[in-house]
Amino acid sequence: TNKIVNRLMIKTDLQEWNGNYIMKDLPKNEKIRKYLLEFLPEGQVATDDISRVMNSYGKSSIEILRARMGNSNEPVDAVVYPDYETVENLVKNADSRKYQLVPVGGTTCVTGALEPVKGKIRVSINTRNFRRVELKENYVLMGSGLTGREAESILNEYELTLGNFPESFEHSTLGGWVATKAIGQESNQYGGIENLVVGIRMIGSNGYFRDEFAPRNSEGIDVRELAIGSEGRMGLITDVAFKIQKKPERTHFKSYFFKNYEEGIKGLSKMRFHPSIVRLSDEVETSIALDGEFNSMP
Ligand SMILES: Cc1cc2nc3c(=O)[nH]c(=O)nc-3n(C[C@H](O)[C@H](O)[C@H](O)COP(=O)(O)OP(=O)(O)OC[C@H]3O[C@@H](n4cnc5c(N)ncnc54)[C@H](O)[C@@H]3O)c2cc1C
Repeated sequence: TNKIVNRLMIKTDLQEWNGNYIMKDLPKNEKIRKYLLEFLPEGQVATDDISRVMNSYGKSSIEILRARMGNSNEPVDAVVYPDYETVENLVKNADSRKYQLVPVGGTTCVTGALEPVKGKIRVSINTRNFRRVELKENYVLMGSGLTGREAESILNEYELTLGNFPESFEHSTLGGWVATKAIGQESNQYGGIENLVVGIRMIGSNGYFRDEFAPRNSEGIDVRELAIGSEGRMGLITDVAFKIQKKPERTHFKSYFFKNYEEGIKGLSKMRFHPSIVRLSDEVETSIALDGEFNSMP
């Protein structure tokens, strides 16, 4: 971060930062832990400081700056890690008038959606235990807690690809992609998440609701339409069915240097072919990329 701040020539009094959150002492509430243990086994409830902080904030500039300055909002009161067997008991029976259950994937969101708000007792539902992988003839059903990197590696073994490569690919999750209507860097070729998902399995306080996982269904309301862009408000996405796509046999990435940004725009407008990704970087971004530390391509 300091390198980027220097490169952008932003004047700041901030000191060197080691990436740790600077927090005040956190109040503890054993009653919350006891209550959550009515629904989940011991290993799936955490109220320690580190779990709470790590499941409370996204990665927007404001959240990062607040963390550096020791100015973050108070973190969530507890974190739960349910699995396919235990999630229903929690989501259906926890008292929603008192408890706010917020799904959390890779915590890479940049909209502030994860920041705790005052009022109800806030519990983050971390999705890391939703890791199903079922490869069918015309779709693949995958657990919402898999990261992009994990899901892509599994499919690559079968010469298949998800085709969604957001820059946060290594840390963001499939459930997070759907809930934030994410789009990847090769969207010229594959489209955004709304073009890739054929169905969703989601759980809310009334239990599970899910799509028929068919390429096209003319009946009723699609759960995928409710889930895409829902930011966790419609329920917890447990599984995502993706279109199956063949991984290209070969890929070529090439870089060209232009004298300046304007020349770059002119160059791109003359291009006579349509690559899956074209990215024009300005001088600052180019110099950061040339450092080699910030390589985000899969
Ligand atoms: C460096 C960086 C690069 C990025 N690049 C891109 C990019 O190229 N394209 C892009 O679109 N975005 C990008 N983002 C934004 C972010 O990565 C995406 O929004 C991503 O989809 C969030 O996924 P996540 O698993 O981290 O979700 P989280 O940050 O954990 O959660 C995001 C929202 O989704 C909800 N949610 C998470 N999981 C579930 C679930 N299972 N069920 C229901 N709701 C859920 C949460 O409640 C929250 O509202 C980038 C972010 C960073 C920090």
